[in-house]
Amino acid sequence: VIRCKAAVAWAMGKPLSVEEVEVAPPKAGEVRVKMVATGICRTDENLRQGLFPNIDFPVIPGHEGAGLVESIGEGVTSVKPGDKVLLLCVPQCGKCIFCLNPESNFCLKAHFHESQCVLPDKTTRFTCKGKQIHHFMWVSTFAEYTVVPDYAVAKIDAAAPLDKVCLLACGFSTGYGAAINTAKVKPGSTCAVFGLGGVGLSVVMGCKAAGASRIIAVDINKDKFAKAKELGATDCISPQDFKKPIHEVLIEMTGYGADYTFEAVGKQETLAAAMTSCNVSTGTCIMVGVQKAGSLLSIDPMLLLSGRAWKGSMLGGWKMRDSASKLVSSYLEKKFNLDVLITHTLPFPKVNEGLELLRAGK
Ligand code: NAD
Ligand code: ZN
Ligand code: ZN
Repeated sequence: VIRCKAAVAWAMGKPLSVEEVEVAPPKAGEVRVKMVATGICRTDENLRQGLFPNIDFPVIPGHEGAGLVESIGEGVTSVKPGDKVLLLCVPQCGKCIFCLNPESNFCLKAHFHESQCVLPDKTTRFTCKGKQIHHFMWVSTFAEYTVVPDYAVAKIDAAAPLDKVCLLACGFSTGYGAAINTAKVKPGSTCAVFGLGGVGLSVVMGCKAAGASRIIAVDINKDKFAKAKELGATDCISPQDFKKPIHEVLIEMTGYGADYTFEAVGKQETLAAAMTSCNVSTGTCIMVGVQKAGSLLSIDPMLLLSGRAWKGSMLGGWKMRDSASKLVSSYLEKKFNLDVLITHTLPFPKVNEGLELLRAGK
């Protein structure tokens, strides 16, 4: 058993509390990882606020992490102690119907199908003050050590800087993949991206890499525009600068609507606007933002009759055990710029400050 620090969400809506926890050794088929770096994604804040579905408190959040394998359980062959790894919040068991389908990355071991608040044997490896603490998406990266099933880690290049490539474990891969894999953006097309957080900025990078000729970035926080432009946005607009609804503005700007729209905010109004502002016939709206658990959206179904498509994208469509090391190699070959997404670097005990910066839009 390792004693170390972890950030525990004891109850919905409360700040995280950095505590000493015990982390049990990995059981068969599991891997214990020493975390080196973790990003903060809006989904961690949604979890803390109770917006994310099927979460059992107390829980250790965090799902955008990179670290070093500390020890392995019986039967683990894919990694060994000392290996650099990314933790996979969407696992790849390699055996389920969707893992066997080359067009899907929705492993049946993913949280939306099977709760990842306990490990596959239905127990947790974390305790604090005598209480069992739950895992989040199995990976719980807001801890100095964590235990995950072996199909939720991927070995990466020993040269990878973990404080950068941790972003490949969620934000960057999600946004970039939504454009490249899910939308399959075509050269010369017009894209609109709602929300310019880590995810939305990565969508902008994906659209640019795919050869989009126009990328309209939409956010209510204009401080995000400089970075969006640096990454390839051709226009940046705030819905608050217009009297008319933003979908009307976008339809006017593009003629008949954008070829591809991406929602990377997680709000109903931006999702409805993204659907309405892609073009009437061949337009595709990609939903990336996570909507509040249990919410319902009222839209006119006739939006789809003329041919529009509405698709979701989870972790950018990547099968992560196959893709993690390729994404890391592409980063090392400077095929995309992750570093620009990093706004602040904090020591782990300041994780609440990190969440505060996220809430403040910084
Ligand atoms: P973030 O909070 O960093 O960014 C969200 C951005 O949306 C902010 O810049 C904010 O100013 C902007 N925004 C808020 N209201 C807006 C409005 N009305 N119109 C336009 N812009 C608005 O969040 P993030 O970490 O980039 O995550 C974005 C979303 O993606 C979240 O919902 C998150 O849960 C989700 N997510 C989904 C996946 C997936 O696999 N599908 C993976 C990671 C994150
Ligand atoms: Zn995330
Ligand atoms: Zn699977």
